[in-house]
Formats: sequence, C-alpha cells, structure tokens
Amino acid sequence: MKLFQCSHCKSAVFFENDNCVHCGHSLGFLPQALKMIATAEDQKFEYPQQSGTLYNYCANHIHNACNWLVAAGEGTTFCKACQLNHTIPNLDKEKNLKQWRKIERAKHRLIYSLQRFDLPLSIQNKDSETLALSFDFLAPQQVKGAIKPVMTGHLNGLITININEANAVHRESMKAKMKERYRTVLGHFRHEVGHFYWEVLVRANDKNHKEFTALFGDASQDYGEALQRHYINGPPKDWRKTYVSKYASSHPWEDWAETWAHYMHLIDTLETAYTFGIQTRPQLGESVKMDTKIDFDPYREQDFEKIINRYIKLTFALNSLNRSMGQPDLYAFVLSAVDIEKLKFVHEVIPKND
Ligand SMILES: [Zn+2]
Ligand SMILES: [Zn+2]
Ligand SMILES: [Zn+2]
Repeated sequence: MKLFQCSHCKSAVFFENDNCVHCGHSLGFLPQALKMIATAEDQKFEYPQQSGTLYNYCANHIHNACNWLVAAGEGTTFCKACQLNHTIPNLDKEKNLKQWRKIERAKHRLIYSLQRFDLPLSIQNKDSETLALSFDFLAPQQVKGAIKPVMTGHLNGLITININEANAVHRESMKAKMKERYRTVLGHFRHEVGHFYWEVLVRANDKNHKEFTALFGDASQDYGEALQRHYINGPPKDWRKTYVSKYASSHPWEDWAETWAHYMHLIDTLETAYTFGIQTRPQLGESVKMDTKIDFDPYREQDFEKIINRYIKLTFALNSLNRSMGQPDLYAFVLSAVDIEKLKFVHEVIPKND
C-alpha cells in the first residue's frame, strides 16, 4: 500500500482516513488518481488536476464503511469498490454493521491492489462468457430454528464472504479448528479473487494453462471429491515441500488461489516498505548477507528474483519486530523452492504495464 498525504496540509494519512487529524479537512480517496483529496474551503472535493470536476463521497460513507470519492454526475452514488457489492447484510442489526465495516476495509484494500496490477474487474473466460467481480457479504441466518452456515467461496466472479470472519473470536476459532497459520479477512479476499483471475490469466491462455498443469497439477480432477478427500485425510505428510499451505494441497485450483494470495501479500507488503524507504542492515558481521533494500515499485518490477529475495530478507526483520511485541510472525511461512516457482508463475502471468 502506498503512503498517502492530505492534499491540503501534506500530512501523512492512512488509506482509511476520512478526516485529516492535522488540518481537520475531510478526506476522500480518489481511486483514478490513487490520492487522498481534502475538501477545499467551500467543503467541496475537487481534484486540482481536473479542475471543474467535483466529487462526492460514496453512498457507503454514511455508514462509515467507505471513504472513496465518486464524480458528481457520474450516474452512480457508489464508488468503484462499492458498486461491486451484490448483497450486504441487514444493517439494522448493530453487529452486522460493525462486521461489515471491517469487511469493507479489507475489500477496499483488495480493489486498490487490483487497480495497481491493472487487472480488470470484469473478464471474458474461455467460453466467451463475461464474468464480473461482485460480492455477497452474508450473515448466517436462522432457518427453522437452526443456523444456516455461510460458506466463504467463489462462483463465476461472485465472491461470498461470511461476515462473521470479521469477528476475531470466530476467526481465531476457525483458524485453530482448520489448523491454519494465517487467517484474515484480507487473506480471504485475496484467495477468492485468485479463482476469478485463474479463468482469464490461466485457463484462457493455452501456454499458461500448460505451464500451470505442469507446476500445479491437472485441474480437471473432480473438485468436490478432492476437497472431500482433503477434509477426511488431511494433507500429505510432506506437504511443506510443494505447497504453501495445507489447504493448497487439496486441489490445483486451491493451490493456485493460495499461491496467488501469497503473491498479493508479498507485493502489498513490499509496496508499503518501498513507500517508507525501508532498508535493513542486520548486525551479523560482514560475512552474513541479510541486508535488504526495498527501492523499487513491486507492482512494476519485472525481476521476480529481486522481489522474492528482498522480501524474504525483509520478513526476517518484520517477524523479529512482531516478536518484540509478543505478536505472531507477520509472515509465518517458510517458502520451499517449489512454492517460489509457483509464485514466479503468478508473477509471470500478470501482465506488467509500465
Ligand atoms: Zn490535512
Ligand atoms: Zn464506496
Ligand atoms: Zn479457494
């Protein structure tokens, strides 16, 4: 994530801010410029480079769920990220509102990254069907006295998220039950959107599909049966050698989605490090080379070796910082050579525009 500045007073602000704590001006995020715009003296949002165009907050700002801007007269009251919502929970319930806000925070970060990658939000698959990215944010409902569960998942561009995932107790208990190392709302989004882009970046491209099969396995094997087998038998004993997570071993599609999510984790983390000008020089003596310098925009970097080598060294520092606060490791994974090959494949199938 980029580092943002209030356009009025130039103070550093967070992506989620709708107000500058330094100058007091209202702030909104202008997605097409990737900038935080402050209101002018007349309380209106105007982007100086496009003088004359006024912007309003997205309609979800009244729920404190979005700080993005929409051009007045654009014909929609929802921003680029909120237009993708197909279903949101019943906001009359306070619990739903609180959880949905957390879901929205993660969703906006996801859309930011997709925009940085220049990835389209609607795609044509191999069968020439148009698939549009959209979201169902659902709360489990009482049906005839029983709770009907909501399964987080993806189907033809529609991503379903159980809003209880925004609840830390629920999430941690699921994490323990599923024996996972990492579980976050943002992680769910990144995983699910991976399934969506598989259609266009892998399945629709014969060369990529062939390489995918060689690296991840044959995706035509029965998906339902594969998942069933995974839940009954668990992952193979030596899964660490070839999979980034246990779940990745269930089916090539899940392996891809897990790898894709990791790629998004590392690119976002590197962008944050880049905008902060982070470099590390661990005091280990001359002979140990653990120095790293994040001096490149990872969204535009072609050289995957550079990305991965510097990222691994960066996580050594980041994990150490987290441990100093009694927190779990920021990146709690050890990447095998095969995992890195798969990450490289993700890197290569995403088109890089300069
Ligand atoms: Zn300010
Ligand atoms: Zn919005
Ligand atoms: Zn999946």
